[in-house]
Formats: sequence, C-alpha cells, structure tokens
Amino acid sequence: MHHDQELLQLLPAAALVVTPAGAILRANAAGVALLEADSEQALLGRILGHFVHPMDKARSSQRIQRVKEPDHAGRPNKSSEFRVRTDKGQLRMVLVASVAIEWQGAPAVLMCGMDMTHQSEIQEQLRESEHNFRRLFDNMQDVYYRTDAQGVVQHVGPGVRRVLGYEPHEIEGRTAESYYPQSKDRDAFKVAIQEKGEVADFPGQMVRRDGAVIDISISSHALYDHLGQFAGVEGIYRDVTQRKNLERELHRLATTDMLTGMANRRAFLETAEAAFHAAREHGTPLTLLMLDVDHFKSINDRFGHLEGDRALVAFARAVMDGLRPGDAVGRLGGEEFGVLLQGTTLPQGHEVAMRLLNCVRTLELAGMDAGGSHRYRITASMGLGTLRGSDRSLRDLLDRADQALYQAKREGRDRIALADADLDGQGY
Ligand code: GH3
Ligand code: MG
Ligand code: MG
Repeated sequence: MHHDQELLQLLPAAALVVTPAGAILRANAAGVALLEADSEQALLGRILGHFVHPMDKARSSQRIQRVKEPDHAGRPNKSSEFRVRTDKGQLRMVLVASVAIEWQGAPAVLMCGMDMTHQSEIQEQLRESEHNFRRLFDNMQDVYYRTDAQGVVQHVGPGVRRVLGYEPHEIEGRTAESYYPQSKDRDAFKVAIQEKGEVADFPGQMVRRDGAVIDISISSHALYDHLGQFAGVEGIYRDVTQRKNLERELHRLATTDMLTGMANRRAFLETAEAAFHAAREHGTPLTLLMLDVDHFKSINDRFGHLEGDRALVAFARAVMDGLRPGDAVGRLGGEEFGVLLQGTTLPQGHEVAMRLLNCVRTLELAGMDAGGSHRYRITASMGLGTLRGSDRSLRDLLDRADQALYQAKREGRDRIALADADLDGQGY
C-alpha cells in the first residue's frame, strides 16, 4: 500500500482515487495542481462531480458507476475528454482514463487525467483554420493546382468546374498541356518556372470543355523533393478573359482610326518604326507610300462634311482592298494616308501605287448640294520613297515620301512622284 501511495505521487499525470460514490480519497501533486486546490487536504472527502462541468456530469458519473459493474472488472474506461472547473474557477479540458481498483481493502476508482486545455485550443484553432481554408478553397475564383515533375496534374481545386467546366477528377491524372490550345503553348511557362522557380501573372490560354478558348493568368512556384530535385509545380490560375477582352478593346480603340477603321497615325508610325528596323537588320527592301486626296476641301464645301466623311471611308476602303493582307496602312491625318510595303522595292511599290491610283479614279460617289444629287469622282496624289542605306531613322524615309507627295501635287495632282529613283539596281 505504501508503494501505491509513492507511485501515485510519482505519476506525472494527475491521479485521483475516488470512492464509487465519487468522494475523493487521494490526490497526487499533479492532481492538486490540475484542480488548482491549495493542498491534497483541501480535496479529500469532496465529491468529484463538483469539479465537472454541468454538461459532462452525467457522463462522468456513468463512467464511475460502470467500473463497479462485475463484468467490467479490471477493464479501464477509455480515455475521454471532460470539461473540468478548478477550485479557482478555471475551465479546463482534461483527458481522463479510469479503472476500478481496491483501495485500503475497499473498492475504489483510480482516475488519471491529462490537461489538454492547451492542446484542445490548438486543435480548435486548427479546425477553425482548416474550416476557413476549405471555405476559401471551395469558393475561390482561382483554380488551385499541383502537378508532378512530368506535368501530370496531381490535384486541382473545385474552381476548375467554373473556369474549365470539368470536374476535378476529370483533370487529375492528365497533363496540364492537355488543356492548352496547343501543347507547346505551355513551353514558355515551363521555361520560366525552370529558370526562376516561380512565375507571377504569367499569361496563357486554355480550352474549356465546351471548346471555348479562355485567357488565363498563372501564378505558380516549382516544388522540389528532399534531394532538391524538381518535383512539380504548385500554384493557381485564373480566368482573365474579360480583362483581356477589355485590354484588347482598349488597345483597338487606341490604335484604330474611328472613321475608316484603319490604323491611326500613332499605330501606323509604330508599325513603320518596327518595319524600318527589321528591314535595316535583314537588309530587305522597304517602300513607303504617302497618299493625299486631291482638293478634298472642295468636297466638304460643296456637299457638306458628312459627305466628305463618306468619301474618306470609300477612299480608305479602296486603298485597303488594293493591298495585300501583310501591307500596313494607316490614316496619318485628315485626308492623308500611309502605306508600308515590306519586302517591296521601289519599282514594285510603283506598281502598287498605280493600281491604287486607278482604284481611286474609278470610285463612284454621289453628294447632295442645293441643286440636288450629283455624281462625282475623286483623285489622289502619291509620293513614294524607299529605304536607303544612309537613312538614320524612319523620319528620313517619311520626309522623302512626303516631299515626293508634294512634288506630285505641284506637278498637277492625280499622279505619283518617286523619291529615291536614282537608287542603283532598282531599275530607276
Ligand atoms: P490638296 O489637293 O492640296 O490636298 O487640297 P485639299 O483640299 O485636299 O487639302 P487641304 O489640306 O487644303 O484640305 C484638307 C481638308 O480635309 C481640310 C479639312 O477640313 C478636311 N478634313 C480633314 N479631316 C476630315 C474629316 O475627317 N472629314 C471631313 N469631311 N473632312 C476632313
Ligand atoms: Mg488633300
Ligand atoms: Mg492634306
């Protein structure tokens, strides 16, 4: 018996011996501390139920009763959590196991308790944060995904239903490339991940189940195994189609001339700038054509500004129809236009210009003045210039084409004038 007492004191866990009716017979130091009593003495004779939270009281006394039952002998009650109120009024969560023993010749119950208050708080926090995470995960607009080193999707979030129209399990086990319009479209992403370990707002496109191509933005990082080997990619992608459409629309508005639908001056000059540098770099010919409608002011004066607009649209249409798809054309000002003929020599450009000159001459237009409806025609003057080795900038070429245009005007309009006709090897 003496040994039992000593053992009880040594136990790191709280230990209480209670009568089958629940009266406390002994408490070790950890037990006194757990119940925040002043001493063991202060606990003796008190009813254990006094310390048990009202909600847990019935369960507690049932368990004490149970260990007395004959067929229960020797079998301990499994550990279970109880809310305990200490002598100082603190609420604690205690994990309790109990077993029937004989104490000083009489049946008793030994109860062992571990203070789980701290742990259960953590668990509660974990549960709470897991719950929050789940809610976020299930509702987020982005699609979470993880692939292995081979690019096979290991896990994909429920957002994929909305973004791609597939169930997550339909995507898992397939490669991410399968959802790109062309599987090589993912190569740039792979290179970026391999070089930098992560990408943010990386652009791409995917194909929805219904076949629609959507714009996506990917933010991801590479995963590495314990040996530092590349093990896959984890991140999110989101549908940015609406944003991209808006950007495309804004870009279109910023680069298009609203009346004619052609490139505006700024966009045309940007294209010309790029073409100038490419032609210089590759040593390919580049010919620039400037066009200006003749006596356009008189159309406005006679038929009004609206008819002037209609004439401009018809003129622009005729010019665009007379060009190849790769030629760049833009409205440089009121009734002045530019055409960029890449890979085209001056003689070839001259042919294009003559064709355009004829198209314009044959346009049939009609306007109203005070005397009624009148058919009328328009003509244009054109200046041609071609890239020279001595050109420092696009400006030089633009200036020569411009001078040629004014030469055409001076010489009587409805004609073409050439700058750079002195160039060797071009037949002029
Ligand atoms: P030239 O043969 O010397 O080129 O004579 P022009 O009358 O065509 O040239 P000018 O530069 O004197 O006049 C161009 C006119 O084009 C003046 C302007 O009112 C008109 N114009 C410019 N932009 C527009 C437009 O968008 N719509 C209309 N209807 N007229 C425009
Ligand atoms: Mg004019
Ligand atoms: Mg003009």
